[in-house]
Amino acid sequence: MNTPGNLASSTYVSAGAEPDAVAYAIVRRYQQRGKSLRVQEANESLRLLQVLYRAEAVRLVASPVEQTLEGYVLSVCESVERTYRAVYGQRAVSKAPEGHHLPPEVMRALWENGLESSERGPRLENILHLQSMHNEVSARAFRAAAEILQTEVRPSIISEVASRSASHTPLLAGIWETTKSAVRTAVESAIKAGKSFQDTLKLVRQKATQIAKGRSGVIARTEAVRATNVGVAVAARRSPVVSHISVVGCMFVEWKGPHFYRGLPTCNIQNVPASDVDSLEFHPNHTGFFAVSGITDSNGLSPSLQLTAGS
Ligand SMILES: [Zn+2]
Repeated sequence: MNTPGNLASSTYVSAGAEPDAVAYAIVRRYQQRGKSLRVQEANESLRLLQVLYRAEAVRLVASPVEQTLEGYVLSVCESVERTYRAVYGQRAVSKAPEGHHLPPEVMRALWENGLESSERGPRLENILHLQSMHNEVSARAFRAAAEILQTEVRPSIISEVASRSASHTPLLAGIWETTKSAVRTAVESAIKAGKSFQDTLKLVRQKATQIAKGRSGVIARTEAVRATNVGVAVAARRSPVVSHISVVGCMFVEWKGPHFYRGLPTCNIQNVPASDVDSLEFHPNHTGFFAVSGITDSNGLSPSLQLTAGS
């Protein structure tokens, strides 16, 4: 059966090699320029890697999330239709060819029941599958960034990447709540417009793809940034040469939060000690990149750099 999980898995396997080959071409080009870490060149290469793995993560996450959400909305519709037939029988349908107008509270109750009863089944499995892709992208971004930042690739650090990546599950879990809200909104607008039960059902079915696409795009982009960030942040924190990291280039800086580091918005923040870099969180649709802004001297000492808010 072509479940979202299977699809995701086969997409992943067939697409696996290419981004890594590109990443290592970037790394090799960087390494050919000399052994010591030169900040500007390191950052050019790091930025390319972040672009590359984000694009890879979007591709890996968007399609399975979209299919999972669309499948969920359609199964809600089926459940609602089943309950309707069980309660009103075939007679109600045939006797009201123009459609059966239910009281709003009955309509809401039918849909709430559908939303809840359709939650069971493959949803956890799908979340876990997406999680494994998230981990995989984090690990690949880590390995490539580690080459540039001279970070040792040890099994203990690889497991650290995996556990950091796993701590990001809540956003994926939240897709069900936002999808349910989108269905509720569609039902409410149908009620307001005085639509029959049948027309409401038809409307939600038609909107299933749209609902799934809207959420999956935002989720995929956000997850892509998070997955890539985990890998690059761990590589930076564990690097013997990186002392400070800045965030550059977010086009949608959220000054009012919700994410801060020592009272400053994390978007485009400058000179965060590398030891803290993987505690930085960002808003959905964040477009900034990690860049090296401080390196240790030949004695391994960190420079003193001022933490500042970005622009
Ligand atoms: Zn941002």
